[in-house]
Amino acid sequence: MYVHSPLPGKPVVLLPAPYSIVSLSSPARQMDTMLLDVLQQKFGFTSFRAGQLAALKTAVGRRDLMVVMPTGAGKSLCYQLPALLEPQVTLVISPLIALMKDQVDGLTARGIAATFLNSSLEPGEQARRLAEVGRGSFRLVYVAPERLRNAAFRTALRRVQLARCAVDEAHCISQWGHDFRPDYRLIGGFLGEIGRPPVVALTATATPRVRSDIIQQLGLQSPATLVTGFNRSNLHFAVQYTPSAEAKLAALHRSLSALPRASAGIIYVGRRREAAEMADYITAACGRRAVPYHAGLGSPERSRLQTEFMSGRAPIVVATNAFGMGVDKPDVRLVVHYTFPGTLEAYYQEAGRAGRDGAEALCEILYSPDDAGLHEYFIDNDAPALAELRSLYVELRRYADRDGWAAATTAQLTFATGMDSEVKVRVGLQLLAQAGLLAEGGEWDGRRHWRLLAVKGRVDMQTPLRHIEARREYKRAQLRDMLSYCESRDCRRQQILDYFGDPEPPIASRCCDNCERPRTTAQLLRPGPAAARSLASVPRIGLAPAVAETLARFRAGQSPAAMAAERELSEGTIYNHLASLIERGVLPIGDVVAKPRRRQILAAWRAEGQTDHLGPIKQRLPKEIVYGEIRCVLAAQANRVQPDPDQS
Ligand code: ADP
Ligand code: MG
Repeated sequence: MYVHSPLPGKPVVLLPAPYSIVSLSSPARQMDTMLLDVLQQKFGFTSFRAGQLAALKTAVGRRDLMVVMPTGAGKSLCYQLPALLEPQVTLVISPLIALMKDQVDGLTARGIAATFLNSSLEPGEQARRLAEVGRGSFRLVYVAPERLRNAAFRTALRRVQLARCAVDEAHCISQWGHDFRPDYRLIGGFLGEIGRPPVVALTATATPRVRSDIIQQLGLQSPATLVTGFNRSNLHFAVQYTPSAEAKLAALHRSLSALPRASAGIIYVGRRREAAEMADYITAACGRRAVPYHAGLGSPERSRLQTEFMSGRAPIVVATNAFGMGVDKPDVRLVVHYTFPGTLEAYYQEAGRAGRDGAEALCEILYSPDDAGLHEYFIDNDAPALAELRSLYVELRRYADRDGWAAATTAQLTFATGMDSEVKVRVGLQLLAQAGLLAEGGEWDGRRHWRLLAVKGRVDMQTPLRHIEARREYKRAQLRDMLSYCESRDCRRQQILDYFGDPEPPIASRCCDNCERPRTTAQLLRPGPAAARSLASVPRIGLAPAVAETLARFRAGQSPAAMAAERELSEGTIYNHLASLIERGVLPIGDVVAKPRRRQILAAWRAEGQTDHLGPIKQRLPKEIVYGEIRCVLAAQANRVQPDPDQS
């Protein structure tokens, strides 16, 4: 295990692995023994889990630290144990009020003085607890980020010396993360106000963008980043190429038949409707009782179905991604993704619900390239459009008093604007603030307050809109990572570890389909001598393996159609690879789409107002011009202008 610098691609070993500490009497050894004693006596655990000891030593050294470990790996210990070693109090910022009480109860039961401050308490009780914090009565204090809006709290904390501040679920600070919580943005300023205690940020999130956001926004000072624990050696990974509905059903049938009768399995689907249909199908055709689960079901129904599954009465659950929060069924032996999710991160979160008991389990994707369309639709539609930003602003105006103050809950605004999610509304508010149309006030009486600002001159909506576009591009890149996982012939475990930046080796009892695939002679030779030669000359760094292979075959003269057939991919996928190569400037557009066609496509594109929606452009063109060619031409246009939303 390594602690490495936050610079992507530049791991720097800072701490020795625990087993390399040789001298029995060395201070390092004494530190290990002391930490182990506290673990055993205060927490009742026999040994450290992967990464915990290294994290603890870094934290105890008072260095800023970012801990990246998967859910369930034991991140809390990385700040709970150090909290017992210092006289000052540790402040824990955590997003989930519902879980705070459990955490505090757990600590209290172990004889550790802890408390929480949140809106579930009477104001009198809040004041009493805050005064006790000031008197040093607690080792740990849990607060939600909203608390940082409270002036009394901030004033009190300025007078308290903290041992450290732990920021749990730290990815909530990033707009790029999936759980963005605007109040997390208050933490950085607050840390400065209270004299920058050492900080421990904790997350299970992979993406470098989110990680660098965490470091930047919390103002971490030369932090150590510790990434570990992502290898789940009992999980076996596989992807089946199933381009049609029939192929998928047949594959699902096979996988369920191979599953011992009473064993539990989770089938993830992309749409609510599919959850119900598939549950019926499995119950009828596969002879196993299956229940559906999705967010469209009422809450009593959901908990009833969850109980059916948890108790084993229904061994199979067919679910959308709404299923899983707080599900900790240890003996799930199979997780099938009937539809792949939009990011590798979401995939690993869901697949990781298999084999929690440590026994072998299978994680399988039924891969159809067309399923990418579902995600592309969400990417295009999940951020607010200009019209939605307008209606959000208009709604706020309706709420506003004469001084321009408006107060509402996000749920109210979601309902009033008819936008389809609260996240979208939150992102929208952020964008309006960026455009200088409103300023955030505080939160009281359970409602958020905004001040509508008087705007002189023209409102700049271009900057917020560019942010939306950058966000979409980011999600498209994540989708491409997911696709390249599905299409790759390389070790899947290694790809997952690489994705999370975990330097541990991909050790497993049964690794993945690619590692077990018998290599045929043809495969060992992979394309033909010319392609093989050009494959060797391809710079693979920075290119997903599947894309690198497309490049090699293309340079060797193979057509997209032939490539698609031979590699069991869709032609659209091959064109996606080519488009990304064109966009990066690796391939000239002239090699992919001949000039006359290019002209036709560009003319149609201009006639449609230079839209990036392919449908209307295609409508204007002769049938023989395929979507892939249009995509490539637009990629070349993008490359020509080189827009970079973050720089502008
Ligand atoms: P995370 O925050 O990484 O999702 P938690 O900190 O909630 O994980 O820990 C998950 C579970 O693992 C908890 O029940 C915790 O008590 C347990 N745990 C943590 N460290 C150890 C350990 N060293 N030995 C045994 N159990 C542990
Ligand atoms: Mg946690």
